[in-house]
Amino acid sequence: MSAPTYDKLTAPTAGTRVTLGSDGKWNIPDDPIVVLIRGDGIGADVNNVPGITTCAVNVLDAAVKKAYGGKKSIHWFDAHAGDVARSLYNPGITDDQVKALDENGQRQVYLPDDTLKAFDYYKVGLKGPLTTPIGGGFRSINVYLRFRFDLYSCVRPVKYFQGIDAPNRNANKVDMCIFRENTEDVYCGIEFKSGSDRAKKLVAFLREMGYGADVLLDSAGIGIKPISPERSKRLIRMAIQYAIDKKCPSVTLCHKGNIMKFTEGAFKDWGYELAKAEFRDQIVTEDEVYTNHGGKAPAGKIVIKDRIADSMFQQIQLRPDEYSVIATPNLNGDYLSDAVAALTGGIGLAAGANIGDQSAMFEATHGTAPKYTGQNRANPGAVLLSGVLLLEFLGWFEAAKLVSDGVEAVFAEADETAKKGPGGKLHVTYDIARQFPGYSEKDGVSSSGFADRIIEKINKA
Ligand code: NAP
Repeated sequence: MSAPTYDKLTAPTAGTRVTLGSDGKWNIPDDPIVVLIRGDGIGADVNNVPGITTCAVNVLDAAVKKAYGGKKSIHWFDAHAGDVARSLYNPGITDDQVKALDENGQRQVYLPDDTLKAFDYYKVGLKGPLTTPIGGGFRSINVYLRFRFDLYSCVRPVKYFQGIDAPNRNANKVDMCIFRENTEDVYCGIEFKSGSDRAKKLVAFLREMGYGADVLLDSAGIGIKPISPERSKRLIRMAIQYAIDKKCPSVTLCHKGNIMKFTEGAFKDWGYELAKAEFRDQIVTEDEVYTNHGGKAPAGKIVIKDRIADSMFQQIQLRPDEYSVIATPNLNGDYLSDAVAALTGGIGLAAGANIGDQSAMFEATHGTAPKYTGQNRANPGAVLLSGVLLLEFLGWFEAAKLVSDGVEAVFAEADETAKKGPGGKLHVTYDIARQFPGYSEKDGVSSSGFADRIIEKINKA
């Protein structure tokens, strides 16, 4: 593949492209080029005021430098999406003109071809939050990227940090990573409006198949829920491999198979099938633990288990330490990842990644919080922790650990200071500072102040 030419981007002159080997494995150079979409609102730098993405990048660079003493470094390639892209590529365009464009025209305004070419070629990206486009035809930059690059796995690690005000008293036991299938299930958009010709046709067809008005009214709107073995297995494969790489104790298949046997139930069955066929030496099923091992998993083996989704939602609250990696279809995963994040104090620190076999995009899950734009005030933690996932993806685990430990140390320090009473100096942003008794938003430091404190911890490690 030859390097693309761009309308408005300038490719880095240094650094090497991440590529895929013929064996399907990533070739990660010591100087990878990573596409960086800083984002809108709090993600963007405004004049000389850094946004949260820049703050996060500074911490990631510091950790890489500390871990590898200059032998490894990331070369960031700035590309654009969202409102930032609209004002750069179509500065004069009005909202009415955007609305008049067709879906692809709207997509080009908010997600220019330049950006798609850069991501297609360099394969790995870090993304700040983006404004949801106006217009209606082109609805979501994130969903478009997922389907266009087949980023089939939405990865959401959730961990409790000391000092964070969490609503659940078991929050300190939460250390989970959810793998949500991104490309199937009711998200495929195969939906038919109540009363439409297509819905009527489908109802007639289902009547022929023997479904009467007891289960399906003529007036029903209908959505289709496709779940295939290929797409389930590739997601579950990635989850089990992650558990192996990170030495996690278990992988739980979360499903609603007691009701939806041929979709959610099949997801579970395909999961066990794949685990036994491809990872037999590294895994043991929960049934085998009880049947063959007296209820105790053999050392070093990952336990593959499954839970019905409703049970899972109570289990994550009551016994969070029994769950580690979770693999689940799209809709369950959507609910579950926010629910687990909420247990530990909300989505303010929720990192994420959308990963496929050809490319990977790492991103915070919160939005652009526009009221804080250009104020150097918002918490860069979620983008930063998404950057930790990026470092792990590159296989740079030493640098990833330096960042995680640095974040943990700054929160722990704030917690210790706050416990001594009001008036102490906290080095966390406003949203964390206001959680401590006797402290308010005013006691928070800037986004860059928080980032600098993490860098201090990294350099002292
Ligand atoms: P939001 O941007 O997530 O902000 C809601 C509130 O969450 C903020 O007012 C702030 O709370 C808090 N918050 C979010 N990020 C924070 C951070 N980094 N540091 C501290 N506090 C943070 O949600 P929204 O206002 O509903 O959405 C704004 C825009 O973002 C919309 O265009 C939406 O479509 C878009 N969005 C994008 C993504 C994405 O790109 N992945 C995701 C969600 C939403 P306080 O007011 O309490 O300080």
